[in-house]
Amino acid sequence: MHNLASLIRAVPDFPTPGIVFRDITPLLADAAEFARCIALLAEPWREARVQAVCAIESRGFIFGAALATTLGAGFVPLRKPGKLPPPVVAVDYELEYARDRLEARNDALRKGERVLVADDVLATGGTLCAARTLVERLGATVVGASVLIELAALPGRARWGNASPLHALLSY
Ligand code: AMP
Repeated sequence: MHNLASLIRAVPDFPTPGIVFRDITPLLADAAEFARCIALLAEPWREARVQAVCAIESRGFIFGAALATTLGAGFVPLRKPGKLPPPVVAVDYELEYARDRLEARNDALRKGERVLVADDVLATGGTLCAARTLVERLGATVVGASVLIELAALPGRARWGNASPLHALLSY
């Protein structure tokens, strides 16, 4: 794991003072380590019969799409407002100082389809939980969540709860 962690850059006070931004671009640029990272992310879900990976715009797409092909699952993008053509289903959620919205095509998932939710970083958990709500609103079943990085000092994991497993490859 040492190699993976060394390829994630901590950038203090970005994008705002007090935030330590986790920059994943050095990891993405390393062919062997990026491939290893996807294999490690996929490992806990190999027997979970995942049918679709739903990932959050935009860095979640990078890991979610690679995870989907590795697991033999489809890929469904959960997008920021106004990017998808209608009809869409939307979920509004609270960020620390703002509100945001995730949208999916209203026919993106089948009833009972087994979904893994994916993102790059779990911080307060607001985004990941909104993704889960959106997937459930579409009638699918969330089998769990996969993130590359969990910020353990924040309440993301507690907010996700125990209804389904949450796997993080790295914890800071
Ligand atoms: P949250 O909803 O608070 O869990 O925030 C998660 C979302 O914000 C993810 O989609 C991340 O891409 C982004 N994010 C939050 N904190 C960071 C951070 N320290 N470094 C990089 N991305 C972050």
